[in-house]
Amino acid sequence: MNIADSLRLASGLEKLGATKTEHIAEADIAVLNTCVVRQSAEDRAYGWLNRVGELKRNTKPDLTVGLMGCLVGVKGNKKIANAFPDIDVFLPPSDPQPLLNLVEQQHAVKKSEIDVVGRRHALQDGELLLPADECGTTFVSYVPVVYGCSHACTFCIIPFRRGIERSRPINQIVAECRSLAQQGVKEITLLGQIVDRYGYDLPGESNLALLLEKVHDIAGLERIRFLTSHPNYLDDVLLRTVAELPKICDHIEVPVQSGNNEVLENMRRGYTVEQYSKLIERIRMFMPNGSISCDVIVGFPGETDSQFEDTCDLLLEHKFDKVHIAKYSPRPGTVSARRMADDVPAKTKESRRKTLDDIQASVLSDINRQLLGKKVEVLVEGYQRDRWRGRTRTNKLVFFEDDSEWAGNLVDVEINWAGPWFMVGKLAPPS
Ligand code: SF4
Repeated sequence: MNIADSLRLASGLEKLGATKTEHIAEADIAVLNTCVVRQSAEDRAYGWLNRVGELKRNTKPDLTVGLMGCLVGVKGNKKIANAFPDIDVFLPPSDPQPLLNLVEQQHAVKKSEIDVVGRRHALQDGELLLPADECGTTFVSYVPVVYGCSHACTFCIIPFRRGIERSRPINQIVAECRSLAQQGVKEITLLGQIVDRYGYDLPGESNLALLLEKVHDIAGLERIRFLTSHPNYLDDVLLRTVAELPKICDHIEVPVQSGNNEVLENMRRGYTVEQYSKLIERIRMFMPNGSISCDVIVGFPGETDSQFEDTCDLLLEHKFDKVHIAKYSPRPGTVSARRMADDVPAKTKESRRKTLDDIQASVLSDINRQLLGKKVEVLVEGYQRDRWRGRTRTNKLVFFEDDSEWAGNLVDVEINWAGPWFMVGKLAPPS
């Protein structure tokens, strides 16, 4: 979501004539887009603000400093404003407008040489212009479709910072996706905290399945993904749409968070392990060759060894293609931070994280080994350490060597090496 928000801010600034620089010493405007999902992310933001504040006071008094994202939140953050007086402008998550307004008022940026106007003419109003340095090099992009979240998982700070659930109008999303495709983007991921709730708050018939159908019709787009799903809203209509429309990748991201019902209840996730397991069966029924990723939190307040073992069993049973493992970190203001003791020692959290990581390494080695000698379709995203890098439809990372230019192309790769986290192969003739 932050990548998508940053792109929209960069696009807006470029329309006002700004250009990007890699060096803060050359910048007139510096913005930090923040995440507060864990304390470590918040601490890094404070470190940046201290460094940039010092730079502004000592050497660059005209530098416009912006703070964006969850550290600001939808309601603003007085504590941060008081602690960091060098910040000139605060941008709530997904809202670049306060900085764009300020820049327009100040005329702080000079008109650049880039042909923004020419490129803008190719697009309709409301469509998204990629920043100049991303045009022709960005093949994978992200489009938010529903902002915020109205669920109330006890550990989660997102509803406090990103606000209640708000779906974007379907036409706006489709126009944005079309404009990205016109600029060379081949794969779009539709984003929402609970993406399958897209349209619940809109009048009429909008829903994610319908949106996927409309985005699927866009010429030039090759692949469509969506994340993150919630087990309670991933229904058969949606699964059938994914299974039937060829451009929609058969890859589902559906967090479980714990393999134990008591922990799930304490998290107020709204489903049981049994219901989650049934959902995994349904997903596999609709897309037998698809991939499934999930999120897990270890060390939630009160999580016992045996409750943690239930999570290990769940991972072994369902053999996920990816598990995002997070150690529980109490976030101020959340129910778990206010009412539950953070009583699992840091060492235990780390050892549980490591245990799950080891389980996943072994599960994934087995899954990926089955692809040895087989051809997979890869969308080539770029060149990295003398190799081309891309992803399969099931979101697996693949590298291959070749002297030709392949960025932005769909190619077939025959897999000849498979590890848990990526695979390596050679170009194969198209089937
Ligand atoms: S559904 Fe996701 S974003 Fe919403 S409160 Fe729960 S964990 Fe947070």
